[in-house]
Amino acid sequence: MRIVEIFLSRQGEGLSTGVESTFIRVGGCNLRCSFCDTPYASWENEEGEDLSVEEIVGRAILFGCRHVVLTGGEPMLYSEMIPLTRQLRQRHLIVTIETAGTLEIPVECDLMSISPKLSNSIPQEASGPILRLHESNRYRPEVVRHLVDHYEYQLKFVVDEPEDLLEVDEYLVHLGAVAADRVLLMPMAIDLATMREKAEWIVAYARKKGYRYCPRMQIEWYGNKRRT
Ligand code: SF4
Repeated sequence: MRIVEIFLSRQGEGLSTGVESTFIRVGGCNLRCSFCDTPYASWENEEGEDLSVEEIVGRAILFGCRHVVLTGGEPMLYSEMIPLTRQLRQRHLIVTIETAGTLEIPVECDLMSISPKLSNSIPQEASGPILRLHESNRYRPEVVRHLVDHYEYQLKFVVDEPEDLLEVDEYLVHLGAVAADRVLLMPMAIDLATMREKAEWIVAYARKKGYRYCPRMQIEWYGNKRRT
């Protein structure tokens, strides 16, 4: 499995915000989101190295951290995730998987952090094949439903404009029942000023619907930097 980087940081988004974690970032993704902040891992080039499951576990445990986040790229692209997550949990590590919710394999984890992509993710400037790839893979509510039904979960939506909030609600109607407080609304922002500006209308909507506002605390703590 191609691993781009393994590093120690604090989780900046979602229910585990502030928790020190070892991040294992896989390479490759089946989407091409317009706002992707990890193109170096997702499709831009072939960064990283191919490691066996045992090598990944060996490097991850060197950080001595109880929480492990499997991120990408798209971790669910790899069948090796099945033995990797099993081995991490056998070592009593607490595992989060960050996925766009377009693929399902029988992994083990303590939190499935699902980020379904709205239409604001469509790479409008991209060429035909890239657009087609993105749009053929992006919308998979049946996969998200399966993940929600089988794992502890959070549903994290990236919102850019107030109209995106209506799309979130439409998505949730198609998805079926979920706990409102597991729905997280995260501003599309890579700087503090933009994040705070969008927070005003996102927080108001989250309060009205019982959702959570999900700031990107890594921006607050470190700025828009890699390995955070
Ligand atoms: S799913 Fe995530 S990693 Fe993949 S292109 Fe979209 S933002 Fe980037």
